[in-house]
Amino acid sequence: MADGPLQLQFVMSATRVEDLPPTQGEVAVVGRSNVGKSSLVNAMANRNQLAKVSKTPGRTQLLNLFEMADGTTLMDLPGYGFAKVPGRIRADWPKMIEGYLQRREGLASVIVLIDAEIGPTPLDVSTLAWLRELGVPIRVVATKQDKVKSSKRDKRKRDLAEGCGLATRDVLWVSASKNVNIVELRRRVRSWVRFEDDDDPDDPDGRS
Ligand code: GDP
Repeated sequence: MADGPLQLQFVMSATRVEDLPPTQGEVAVVGRSNVGKSSLVNAMANRNQLAKVSKTPGRTQLLNLFEMADGTTLMDLPGYGFAKVPGRIRADWPKMIEGYLQRREGLASVIVLIDAEIGPTPLDVSTLAWLRELGVPIRVVATKQDKVKSSKRDKRKRDLAEGCGLATRDVLWVSASKNVNIVELRRRVRSWVRFEDDDDPDDPDGRS
């Protein structure tokens, strides 16, 4: 079903892009540690424990690859800016990710997750700038929509998008906890992996 859960299956963890199997089309998901990435991957797949694999010891700093039913793939990139990670490992993050971003054949777009309540942080902003410099197509998704009071949401949406250098309608707001816009995000992921630009400007918040 087009709007049903993404049929994600864990394939492998890798440190180098050269070790990854070929893909028909891939979206990569990235964000600050604790931004809600695992919760969102689980919600898209409608599986509680799926992204847990990316959080097991030894895997948190790796490229974690998931396959969808039709040979397209989702790459769960390591979270950035985790305070508990020693500085040396933090410094290695851009190097490993840069290799992936520059050399992954079939990479269709990178989904950058931003915390709806607190983002974009300075680290989010510099990560966005760096991704743009590398020339990879970026989609911004704001997580934890439910944490922003509905009375504050319109202003927060404008501020968050502006902080990311985007129009308000270019940011999809989602909540994994409250299941907000998850169907819309699945729909977009399915089109992004096919290199289609399926954002609907008439329906910026995916309310349909
Ligand atoms: P990750 O480190 O980016 O993979 O983030 P997690 O998915 O582990 O989530 C980090 C924390 O945010 C956890 O305590 C989650 O329960 C919480 N969280 C994740 N998504 C949501 C959401 O949509 N709404 C709310 N309120 N909390 C969330």
